[in-house]
Amino acid sequence: MSQEKNEKNKLKHEKNALEVKYNELKRELLNIGYICKGSIVPSYRKCGKSYCKCAKNENAKHGPYWLWTRKEKGKTVTKPLSKKQIKLCEEFIQNSKILEKIIKEMREISIKALKNEK
Ligand SMILES: [Zn+2]
Repeated sequence: MSQEKNEKNKLKHEKNALEVKYNELKRELLNIGYICKGSIVPSYRKCGKSYCKCAKNENAKHGPYWLWTRKEKGKTVTKPLSKKQIKLCEEFIQNSKILEKIIKEMREISIKALKNEK
């Protein structure tokens, strides 16, 4: 085989490999569930009742309560979560991270695909 033909075959093989990987990622996208940005943070607070031990002791607080916090248009938005929501929110945040990882890989493959075209 000539050198040129060899190069062409190599390139063709590379292109196919990129396409296969890209299609795998597209299929992974289909399986992503709901997505949420942000994180879940614990919060402790005083209840305000004068007879409660938290009123007498500076360090005594109720909690943890779990808050979902995220940035929206540059502002931090915080929302309290119910027990059921904590689990779901965790899952949605995890899904969002997976989605971002997939998109990052798709972008990297796209750059390679572009570079292969001269
Ligand atoms: Zn209290």
